Amino acid sequence: MTPDVDVAVIGGGPAGSTMASYLAKAGLSVAVFEAEHFPREHVGESLVTATTPVLLETGAMAAVEAAGFPKKYGAAWTSAETRPIDSMGYDTRGRGFGTAEIRFQERDQPGVDRDFTYHVDRGKFDLILLEHAESLGAVVHQGVRVGQVDFSGEMPVLHMKTGGRSDRVTARMVVDASGRRTMLGNQLKVKVNDPVFNQYAIHTWFDNFDRSALTPDKTQSDFIFIHFLPITDTWVWQIPITETITSIGVVTQKKRFQQAADGREKFFWDTVASRPRLLDALKQADQVRPLKTEGDYSYAMRQIAGDNFLLVGDAARFVDPIFSSGVSVALNSARLAAADIIAAHEAGDFRKERFATFENKMRKAVNNWYEFISIYYRLNILFTAFVQDPRYRLDVLKMLQGDVYDDEEPKALAAMREVVAAVESDDTHLWRPFLGELKAPTAKAVF
Ligand code: FAD
Repeated sequence: MTPDVDVAVIGGGPAGSTMASYLAKAGLSVAVFEAEHFPREHVGESLVTATTPVLLETGAMAAVEAAGFPKKYGAAWTSAETRPIDSMGYDTRGRGFGTAEIRFQERDQPGVDRDFTYHVDRGKFDLILLEHAESLGAVVHQGVRVGQVDFSGEMPVLHMKTGGRSDRVTARMVVDASGRRTMLGNQLKVKVNDPVFNQYAIHTWFDNFDRSALTPDKTQSDFIFIHFLPITDTWVWQIPITETITSIGVVTQKKRFQQAADGREKFFWDTVASRPRLLDALKQADQVRPLKTEGDYSYAMRQIAGDNFLLVGDAARFVDPIFSSGVSVALNSARLAAADIIAAHEAGDFRKERFATFENKMRKAVNNWYEFISIYYRLNILFTAFVQDPRYRLDVLKMLQGDVYDDEEPKALAAMREVVAAVESDDTHLWRPFLGELKAPTAKAVF
């Protein structure tokens, strides 16, 4: 039986469109089925430099550059902490704990030819990537939701809905890039909620927000800012979207949000009020979008590849937005998976074993991310100390660049793990009061 297409991709977000671009470039026939009509709003607006090699390779970079998104040269963290803290021997050059900044120019990254990346309006960015895939020959169907994939026959059959009409399409291979809808993960019952992380986000856009309200350094105004709040496991993102529009989001424990009986509006404002200067700056700006919430986003899959299918981007796993890694994982998982799919196509064999390189590389990368995120939440003062310490700075920056797909475990992770263990085992430790509540046992792989 001849299939309708070589590869069917479910979802046209960054993972799906990047996958489609790689496959179409290699000459495979590809169809993308996207439930929404683009442009559509989406959370996840600040990129890291690990997106650059992928955008260059697929050829989408030219259109991204032409869109005029704000350039992102670095990241900064501000602290609500005023107590003096013993430096534990970390050389923080007198800059104090709790605040930090990095600039991408400090570390050369393989395949990256510039010292910046972008903050993006995801409505525009995702449309650019999807149109790019189309320009390379992928057939894009918008407004088409895939409901189920039948794997019982000779080849997968996708069942989808377009308006009120039902349709079916056959493919040699199915790629699930459906994001947090986790279409195949749900169908195959391989999704597991994270046992530790259960954070919640509430966010919106402001016009005319003063981006330098919490920093004395004007050169940082186009950075992403992470403002720590004096509330356990709670922080605020500040992401430039245009010259005057700034995305602001609060991330906190879901249980805190659930306890806030007076609704999301009051919760948002009460939470940002814990950093009075942030509150003042927001009050002087104009909110231009309704508040939007995101929850239940920390999960993994017991399996990310099988005979005739694999999962990329958020459809495969998501942990937490703290290091702006999501879009880079979407792009890089598509890059790694596309290489295995192209080889499988050449061999005429789409069995699970063909996708081992993708699985192994993703497992390592995601486990490094997972542990980095866990340590951050467990003892975030340690994260800023390591960023400022010359012994670990470049190694931490490597992770913050999203450069996590080689085989090495970052040195800083092992060192951070030891410090956390020391603090946890000593009731009198000076950093003991700074331990967060989220405690991940180890970064155990689930797939
Ligand atoms: P998506 O972008 O979600 O795309 C999936 C697409 O599939 C959607 O367009 C959807 O309509 C479509 N779809 C779903 N189901 C079906 C179906 N059944 N049939 C057809 N189509 C379907 N990442 C960053 O890089 N930087 C950040 O600053 C950042 N901040 C974040 C903040 C929060 C609070 C959260 C929760 C995430 C954040 N992320 C961030 C993560 C980022 O949003 C995601 O990692 C990224 O969007 C993943 O891309 P994707 O292509 O896998 O999925």
